[in-house]
Amino acid sequence: MSKAINPKQKAFLIDMTKCTGCRGCQVACKQWNQLKAEETEFFSGEGYQNPPAMSEYTFTRIKFRDYQKNGQNEFAFYKEMCMHCDDPACASVCPVGAFDKTAEGPVIYKADRCIGCRFCMIACPFGVPKYEWSKGLPLVKKCTGCYSRVKEGMQPACATACPTAITYGSREDLIKLAEERLSKNPGKYINKLYGKEEAGGTTVLYLTNLPFDELGFKKITLRPLPEYTWQALRFVPAAFLTVGGSLSALSWITHRRDRLKNEKEAAEQVETPAQEKED
Ligand code: SF4
Ligand code: SF4
Ligand code: SF4
Repeated sequence: MSKAINPKQKAFLIDMTKCTGCRGCQVACKQWNQLKAEETEFFSGEGYQNPPAMSEYTFTRIKFRDYQKNGQNEFAFYKEMCMHCDDPACASVCPVGAFDKTAEGPVIYKADRCIGCRFCMIACPFGVPKYEWSKGLPLVKKCTGCYSRVKEGMQPACATACPTAITYGSREDLIKLAEERLSKNPGKYINKLYGKEEAGGTTVLYLTNLPFDELGFKKITLRPLPEYTWQALRFVPAAFLTVGGSLSALSWITHRRDRLKNEKEAAEQVETPAQEKED
């Protein structure tokens, strides 16, 4: 059965054949979200990508893959970020509803609800949510889909900064555009629009000229993942959900609320223009 179309839903079409690897999207994301720079090495072992992994300070990054074509060295690029799944596994397992799938597409995180159980990190098939391990009272961090911009009719910061590869707009229109590119350019692309059906459909759609698994894309079921995640999480010790777990959760909530209140007060004093608001 085909899914009902949500006319408000926006999406990213990322055409990796057009990506120059400039990493303007990475920089724009850092600037908009006020994320600090991380110490990195030029060659991290996995490849030329820098930083070597997404983290609490890096919500998106460009992965590099070098290959040979007609005896020439070539590069392929892949922009990694939250996929903003239509049926997000992170939201389905969160016991306190800290994740929301918005009508516009972004899956947003409500820090004041989070109890720090990290089920979302286990459930996400793309390994997206990261934890602030370096902090005493950590929160989960991930790409916000620039919801505060999108709900005001603006484009996400990374899409605005990209000179070539990212198109942002109605998901329905972007699927048509991508399928047109596929049919008009046989041989240029791998004949697949990644994200159209993966995990039940995602808000980030990809076209590429190299096999998706060679670029590090995961092979994901086409069924919505919440159908599977609770099956997997039944192995999480039940003790977590007992009285002890509940008391710790209460303590987390209290400390977290204090921290968020303090951060909000500090932010109001500084008055920064680029703050994400997730309420
Ligand atoms: S990619 Fe992971 S974190 Fe992002 S919406 Fe999907 S399940 Fe949630
Ligand atoms: S949508 Fe916003 S938060 Fe997500 S990668 Fe792009 S700039 Fe970063
Ligand atoms: S800004 Fe666009 S072209 Fe530059 S690295 Fe990001 S996706 Fe590629």
